[in-house]
Amino acid sequence: MSPDEIKARFHQKFVVNLVALAVILIPAIIVIAYVYGSQTILGLKIDNYVVPSLIVVIGGAIYAAVTWRCPNCRASLGKLAYPKNCPKCGVELR
Ligand SMILES: [Zn+2]
Repeated sequence: MSPDEIKARFHQKFVVNLVALAVILIPAIIVIAYVYGSQTILGLKIDNYVVPSLIVVIGGAIYAAVTWRCPNCRASLGKLAYPKNCPKCGVELR
């Protein structure tokens, strides 16, 4: 894979993960509110949304763990938000 292909693939992964983060944001807020004992958010009862929200949050976390990897060596990028280089093989990602 050429350096430009690696950067293009990394950019694509980054954008997809950003969209996934946006999708799980509201379910994550619902789960966190429920964990801290809230029954409503902005006057809306959240009881019926807690389990589906939890599934979306767990699914998003699994998706991120599986896909947030170096396009060159497949090493996990862990908690790095937007790394310039892969922490394992050192290839330029952007
Ligand atoms: Zn790598």
